[in-house]
Amino acid sequence: MKSAMTSAACCVSLLLAIGPVQAQENHVTAVTGATLIDGTARPHIEDAVILIDGARISQVGPGDAVVVPPGATVIDARGRYVIPGLADMHNHLQSGSMRAQQNLRLGLSRLLAVGVTTVFNPSIGLEDFATLKAAAADEAAPVARFFGTGPIVTVEGDVLGQLVGAPTPRTASEARSVVRELRAAGVDAIKVQRDDASWSIRGRFPLMRPEVLSALVDEAHGAGLKVFAHAPMLAQAKEALRAGVDGLMHGIIDAPVDQEFIDLMTRNRASYVSTMALYHDVANVAAWARRQAPNWDRAALQPPRLYESFTTPAGIERFESIFTNSDGARRGLPVQRSNLKRVFDADIPVVLGTDSGFFGILIGVSTQIELELLVEAGLSPADALRTATVNAARMIGREADFGTIEPGKLADLVILEADPATDIRDVTRVVRTLKGGVAYEPVDPARPLQ
Ligand SMILES: [Zn+2]
Repeated sequence: MKSAMTSAACCVSLLLAIGPVQAQENHVTAVTGATLIDGTARPHIEDAVILIDGARISQVGPGDAVVVPPGATVIDARGRYVIPGLADMHNHLQSGSMRAQQNLRLGLSRLLAVGVTTVFNPSIGLEDFATLKAAAADEAAPVARFFGTGPIVTVEGDVLGQLVGAPTPRTASEARSVVRELRAAGVDAIKVQRDDASWSIRGRFPLMRPEVLSALVDEAHGAGLKVFAHAPMLAQAKEALRAGVDGLMHGIIDAPVDQEFIDLMTRNRASYVSTMALYHDVANVAAWARRQAPNWDRAALQPPRLYESFTTPAGIERFESIFTNSDGARRGLPVQRSNLKRVFDADIPVVLGTDSGFFGILIGVSTQIELELLVEAGLSPADALRTATVNAARMIGREADFGTIEPGKLADLVILEADPATDIRDVTRVVRTLKGGVAYEPVDPARPLQ
């Protein structure tokens, strides 16, 4: 069985690089022999067997308790470690360069190479949103699961919002009709801007009027949609929470979070998306580029030109001519780190997000480094993994489908060479990524195989 899988992998790879290793429908696959970290609070299972029937997990347990049916395709994972597929819940699917017109579908495909099986894009043009939804609709498509908000709902003068055709309602009734239009376009949630941006630029964006924000949240909740706020600064995040938002798409960088903030987050059952990658990037783009370099060498995900564009004096100058308050972001690094831990300790669900695609934040590898940053902030590796698995699924109400490795869930999992619960950097040592029971090799589709 193992040799059959290997030869299939070889042939498919030569053609497609990230094509499925095996893709039979309604066929049983067994992943055997690995140590299973299932994403629940249960202890690890050694020598585990995971049975997959079609796209879903049918049985999980120790090897002596689960029978592998005859005819099953066996993926021999002895000596290896299995974790749930990772989710990056703030990811724009771009490479991280300043180049326009990127291939977002390629980004969605590349994520599988680094173990990311689910992505949430909190600001994307509606045309791209529809294209990616269609690309990801087929369970067997070689792309990560795709969720998103469509364009951010923002204010006039938000230049990043303009790039995705963001609506800018000026009245409560305009806000309500914006929500209805986004809902008709099939978005999974709404994202709203609540940031004067002074943490990253010298100057200030205007803010949405409170009654417009409240109407937006009210209309979205009435339509069964959650609202997530872009609000990296404490006072503005509280304003968004008072209006009823269901989560923050960034950690808080400008000031230590206080009890009022914790109480508002708890009241709203709000998620706290980390984006520590974004803050490291804005604080010091060259240092952040250097930190990502070993990961992308390993994953071979990026053209080397990108590295130069963020480490040469001209590249740094160009970046800092846009984000003119890197000093402010640098001062905020220890603040956002201790905020992350305080929020985690208050039992608020922390969710992994990177803001991948923002200038300098490289798709895929930044997700892996975000896990390291979460551990550096004081989370255990197992807790850091939960921010990218079960907490991510709960944020968008999809915990019945993914986030843990349990019977009934979609078979989204990553086979690793070493134990990420011991050293979180072992998430980079991907052997196979399975999405919906189909196995993918850890290679970039843009990289020719030798
Ligand atoms: Zn973003």
